[in-house]
Amino acid sequence: MLIVQKFGGSSVGTLERIRACAQRCLDAQRQGNDLVVVVSAMAGETNRLIKLANRLRALGRAEEEGEGKGPYVAVDGAGDPVHERELDQLVSTGENVSAALLAMAIHDLGGEAISLVGHQIGMITDRTYTNARIKELRGDRIRREIEAGKIVVCAGFQGLDADGNITTLGRGGSDTSAVALAAAIGADVCEIYTDVDGVYTTDPRIEPKARKIAEITCEEMLELASLGAKVLQIRSVAFAMKYGVAVHVRSSLNNNEGTWIVSEYRSMEAPVVVGLALDRNEAKVTLTNVPDVPGVAAMVFNRLAEAGVVVDMIIQNASRDGTTDLTFTVPENDLERSVKELESLDLPRREALTIVSDPEICKISIVGVGMRSHSGVAAKAFQILAAEGINIHMVSTSEIKVSVVVQERYGELALRALHAGFGLDEGPSAETSKAS
Ligand code: ADP
Ligand code: ASP
Ligand code: MG
Repeated sequence: MLIVQKFGGSSVGTLERIRACAQRCLDAQRQGNDLVVVVSAMAGETNRLIKLANRLRALGRAEEEGEGKGPYVAVDGAGDPVHERELDQLVSTGENVSAALLAMAIHDLGGEAISLVGHQIGMITDRTYTNARIKELRGDRIRREIEAGKIVVCAGFQGLDADGNITTLGRGGSDTSAVALAAAIGADVCEIYTDVDGVYTTDPRIEPKARKIAEITCEEMLELASLGAKVLQIRSVAFAMKYGVAVHVRSSLNNNEGTWIVSEYRSMEAPVVVGLALDRNEAKVTLTNVPDVPGVAAMVFNRLAEAGVVVDMIIQNASRDGTTDLTFTVPENDLERSVKELESLDLPRREALTIVSDPEICKISIVGVGMRSHSGVAAKAFQILAAEGINIHMVSTSEIKVSVVVQERYGELALRALHAGFGLDEGPSAETSKAS
């Protein structure tokens, strides 16, 4: 078999862990497999590098303005192109270090390996520094090295634009490097090694009663990742879906079977609810006394779109006295910017309009393809939250998810209540979440 193994930051977080990864690679090779490995930077390294850049910027600002303006959001945010180019040069180095160390560790254990960085594997991306998209991946060098009997260790997260500038793929981007590589070289499986045993019904750090899921569809995983479950980068799931890559998420600390990301359920019926996600990075904006005339919503959301703000949920209430309230959510990092944009808009009857913003909210989402054929999931969620006395601010639904916005301080309580209420807690009651 041709296997791609991806090791995340904690899996290569120390030299001992790197040696353990090397041993795992060699074991797989000795079982007759060809191996391509993708590594992340050692745990904490990408954050450390971003902080260096932030501190440098803060120094500059302090000199200019007398004080720092808080952290530059770096890899997740927008900034000036020159800075972002250098930021990518900087943060991509973390992966180079772990790739070279892992190749050395494989040699030390008697194997043959070669480490390659983005340009050596032909990972071509667009020019969006800090959040680049893969355009092309030339697998020829990798194939040559495999034919020479080597384990090929690739630096994840990084690519190269058409002009030869280093780019990076966004936080968590090594997942996408690995799945894209698996697609490009036609690997039989892409194994994502991390610090948990697989994909759980919710983040096990928040809910210790979360259960490992044996298999989950790409569609559900894409929803969970988009709604806040950071176990896989969203784009890696999109790649797996598009190119039919078999992805197995598992722990680098044991040999347990992990979670298979599948196109459709093989061995069991579709669960009504497969998992929950909590997203704390949203903020709510309400425009009150908005004139209920055509074109106002277009003005508001066009301006936000032009400013590059991604709006998530939108609610417009029924009109009373010719005015209405318009509520929506934006990423918390973009809240200040969004409000400024809206304040400068020349809306009809602007003097009567108020803009109220609230960063203290979070979004909890319930996901499962079984919802397509089962009604009542939203009603049940409302009941569970009501029983806990938790007020719901906003709701949005799609075919396979229900999201609710609640006050941030009730987020974890709400998540746990819903986890238990939908029968996802570890134990016999788990069966109740399956479709009958
Ligand atoms: P890596 O460094 O290996 O890429 P990440 O930190 O990116 O690891 O992803 C693993 C983490 O994702 C886990 O430690 C866990 O806290 C978090 N996580 C969030 N949601 C889930 C989920 N539904 N299932 C498993 N892990 C989750
Ligand atoms: N090292 C990068 C990050 O921390 C990429 C990754 O780990 O996947 O975001
Ligand atoms: Mg990750």
